Amino acid sequence: MPQNQNLFVALRDAFPHELDSTAIATADGDALAYSWRDLERATAMLANLLASLELPAGARVAVQTEKSVEALMLYLAVLRAGYVYLPLNTAYQSREIEYFIANAEPSVVVCSGKNFSWVSRLAFSAGTRHVFTLNDDRSGSLLERAAHHSDSHAPAQKTADDLAAILYTSGTTGRSKGAMLSHGNLLSNALTLKRTWGWAKGDVLIHALPIFHVHGLFVASHGALLNGSRMIWFGKFDPLAVVARLPEATVFMGVPTLYVRLLAEPSFTRDACRGMRLFISGSAPLLIETFNEFRERSGHTILERYGMSETLMLTSNPYDAKDGERRGGTVGLPLPGVDLRVSDDQGQPCAAGEIGGIEVRGPNVFHGYWRMPEKTKEEFTADGWFKTGDVGTVDERGYVSIVGRSKDLIITGGYNVYPAEVESTLNEMPGVAESAVIGVPHPDFGEGVVAVVVAKPGAQPDATGLITALKARIANFKVPKHLFVVDELPRNTMGKVQKNLLREQHKSLFAA
Ligand code: AMP
Repeated sequence: MPQNQNLFVALRDAFPHELDSTAIATADGDALAYSWRDLERATAMLANLLASLELPAGARVAVQTEKSVEALMLYLAVLRAGYVYLPLNTAYQSREIEYFIANAEPSVVVCSGKNFSWVSRLAFSAGTRHVFTLNDDRSGSLLERAAHHSDSHAPAQKTADDLAAILYTSGTTGRSKGAMLSHGNLLSNALTLKRTWGWAKGDVLIHALPIFHVHGLFVASHGALLNGSRMIWFGKFDPLAVVARLPEATVFMGVPTLYVRLLAEPSFTRDACRGMRLFISGSAPLLIETFNEFRERSGHTILERYGMSETLMLTSNPYDAKDGERRGGTVGLPLPGVDLRVSDDQGQPCAAGEIGGIEVRGPNVFHGYWRMPEKTKEEFTADGWFKTGDVGTVDERGYVSIVGRSKDLIITGGYNVYPAEVESTLNEMPGVAESAVIGVPHPDFGEGVVAVVVAKPGAQPDATGLITALKARIANFKVPKHLFVVDELPRNTMGKVQKNLLREQHKSLFAA
């Protein structure tokens, strides 16, 4: 028989020999310690439960539950049993869940007990046969049923190209699409990150991210599991509680908002970070101010990386100083095995420093959008590169910078305006904490530039004054025609600014 390429097998092979040592310690709620043996046995029982349902090959298991260690075990059990895992953001409401269930046609749905009545109604009427509940206090029908199954299970035989998960894109623009990721995609990326980020014996990860997204589910969990490393597990990010556990940990991964919240916590000091090896940020742009302030406060330089559901991780700032410095405002260099290029509108290569669309190729790139062959075709170039939809540059030294999403690009009077440029200029101005720049329909210019600004605590920046100051710094066509000062920007759960909501809100601003 060929070697089993099931990702679960690779993760389990990395479990330490001391199976009774702690794999995961929960840090909020009841303080529980799960051993490696617990992971092995519980995933076997859950996999046996799934196998007993006699699901068709390639069956999808859709999961919308609160974060818990058992939910992570369910993910591992779905891999182990050879089915396809489909995590769903806990924030999704019934209309959204209805869409995902209709689109993915899962054979099994697992939801929180509190949502069972409406989720099961939607699922059963769409033809799903099995709906289980799983709560974050270890209750629910899933575990009750699994308890009756054997704790030994031979992992399903898989090839590298077999589907392991479908991740619906977070949908800050347009309708969500299901990115199909294979066992080979996930394992190759996890192995690359293990080497690149210097995972070593003795590492301990603080896991404080949601597990319905590529960052928390794959980058963080695979990182620790593939290294046989203990995780300190937070159901929810709480800065004070996280700081209290830092001395026991070596690695932390967060989205930029988590770093901002750590910096707002007075107990976050150099001393609290004394045992830390690495802080990693991604999923949204890290402001240079946060990068600098973090270095001053903690003595650590955040390592920023870039990736997406469709491709997993693509670039990383250097881990080792001999490979280069970690440069704030950039997402670093392409990872080993990842090819990355920047192309102009005609598909021609851009020179160093020139802005264009980022395209990638590698073993990490997904197998297409679930049941959307046309959409998949559109997103690949004729020579097989995936068009990320991100706009950016590569400098002479190979460092990649993201300027924005191509869909966020503003074209006003025929001129291209990159929101990130206007935003970073605004963010440097006194009294401005952060900003979002969007384009909305304009009768003369096609699109008109609009800025939405959040003030620093205690500051009251004046819209007219900011516009005047901008005029002195950037070309007039880039200067917002309107500027609003607001309390906060709309963000999704991964900390990404939802520009689609801002565009909707201001769409009639320039209506005749
Ligand atoms: P998702 O598929 O939800 O992970 O979203 C992926 C998108 O997040 C990318 O296409 C980028 O637009 C954005 N993103 C991820 N990491 C970064 C980063 N370090 N800096 C800027 N944007 C990022």
